[in-house]
Amino acid sequence: MTNKPDILLIYTGGTIGMVKDYKTNALKAFDFSQIVEKIPELQQLNCNISTISFKEPIDSSNMDINYYIEIAETIANNYEKFDGFVILTGSDTMSYISSAISFMFENLQKPVIFTGSQLPIGDFRTDAKENLVTSIEIASAKENNEPIVKEVGLYFEYKLYRANRTTKISAEQFEAFTSMNYPPLVKSGVHLNFNKMILLNPTSEKQELIFRKNLVNDIVVLKLFPGITEKVVKAIISIPNLKGIILETYGTGNAPTKNWFLHLLEEAINKGIHIVNVTQCTGGSVLMGHYETSINLKRIGIINGKDITTESAIAKMMYLLGQNLPKDDFKTYFETSLRGEIN
Ligand code: ASP
Repeated sequence: MTNKPDILLIYTGGTIGMVKDYKTNALKAFDFSQIVEKIPELQQLNCNISTISFKEPIDSSNMDINYYIEIAETIANNYEKFDGFVILTGSDTMSYISSAISFMFENLQKPVIFTGSQLPIGDFRTDAKENLVTSIEIASAKENNEPIVKEVGLYFEYKLYRANRTTKISAEQFEAFTSMNYPPLVKSGVHLNFNKMILLNPTSEKQELIFRKNLVNDIVVLKLFPGITEKVVKAIISIPNLKGIILETYGTGNAPTKNWFLHLLEEAINKGIHIVNVTQCTGGSVLMGHYETSINLKRIGIINGKDITTESAIAKMMYLLGQNLPKDDFKTYFETSLRGEIN
């Protein structure tokens, strides 16, 4: 028996798990069951690490809701046995994946940390080791025998963010992610600096974990641009079985006031399609009714996405559609913070 925290490392794919074959110069997948032996630093951490790998690791561009469910089930099936979880995925869609996982668990009392890297773990200049080692340290961190982080986070380049607040911003810099509308939860320097005031703090009476794995992906993102035509919007709202639209608007949630545009949106809402207003800006919030160009959106019943990211809005839409809620409840839940995703 040891008192060391037990951490489950789940590898799904992505650059982090690759090594360079120096003879051919090509990147190839690494046998993840050997990670603890291959990276001596991991043996020095004050925790016990177990690993699970996807049978066939994938590039995160190939992720879909079935993989989200596989990741979430792996966490749910091992929830009691482990103190914390570190999930390795490709960075390209990590914000989408981790946002979805955040909605699928209610009353999470343990850390679920997503990380990856820009360079493969076997590369001389890799960012993978720091990201992996610190993510495991954060997942192991306890105070008064309780995990410090009790939510889904995303760690990259010295910062842990709330996962459902993040966006990938760079395909080049090691600092690949940002969270424009919420500060980092943890900063890693000489010490790990936990910003305890802003961490999610589930009620102290132990509430049971609720895992919901019903996700619906009959949705679309409609990004407005000056000059968008009626036939394009009409074609989108006519997609068979469409259930939700993430409408990426300008600035504080503004859109054209043209009659054809508003009529098409109203028609979609009357057909039972949920439409959420999300800003194209990387920071700030939708304020429906602030300008004339958003008053009508509010009048016809468009949902206010407030300061949610597009990635998180997609995940929340998939999750809430899976709950089969009446129209008004859907709107109320969407406009309410469920996992700290909006202010
Ligand atoms: N294309 C890779 C992926 O997202 C990039 C990465 O691993 O960061 O799977």
